[in-house]
Amino acid sequence: MDLIFATHNANKAKEISVLLDDKFNVLTLQDIGFTTEIEETGTTLKENAFIKAQAVAAQFNLPVFADDTGLEVFCLNNEPGVRSARYAGEPSDANQNMDLLLSKLTPKSLNEARFVTWICLMINGKIHFFEGSLNGSIIHQKTGMNGFGYDPIFVPENHAETLAQLTLEEKNKISHRAKAFFKMKDFLFKQTFS
Ligand code: IMP
Repeated sequence: MDLIFATHNANKAKEISVLLDDKFNVLTLQDIGFTTEIEETGTTLKENAFIKAQAVAAQFNLPVFADDTGLEVFCLNNEPGVRSARYAGEPSDANQNMDLLLSKLTPKSLNEARFVTWICLMINGKIHFFEGSLNGSIIHQKTGMNGFGYDPIFVPENHAETLAQLTLEEKNKISHRAKAFFKMKDFLFKQTFS
């Protein structure tokens, strides 16, 4: 069964395809020739996931899903949140984003935070949402070489290392994105194969 992932990122699509046990043919926006820039004008991650899925569903008669992820630091009113990718401005740069975030935290700040992923799936004329989150805390020293984005300053709860010190396999066992995708996978498998 074809399933459109509203992303230009072929690596993300490959990862998801594996997660879905290759039971679905995951197509990217490139695969379907969708070149329109989708403006992420939502004020929440959930809204942005909806906007991306809706933009594609309006033009293609296939099941489609989109995701949006952000980091929420509680003492900063959940910043950077929906602005995580471009927190320090365009073009997005992970180091500048982390530096800006760290500059806003004092040594005494309570640095609890969480990553949140929202997925919006549009299938058979219905809209479904799935959420995954990972709680943890922000540390002031960037540590670790793996991962991307804010991984070097995020220590997941019950862990001593940052996400950037975990292998991809270890990260995928606990990550916000994996949790949201497993919820969607459960839903799709129940709907399609039972
Ligand atoms: P996206 O919605 O997956 O494109 O994520 C938006 C932004 O959130 C990224 O550009 C990163 O800055 C940040 N981000 C998303 N997922 C992660 C993660 O797993 N680790 C660290 N940063 C992330």
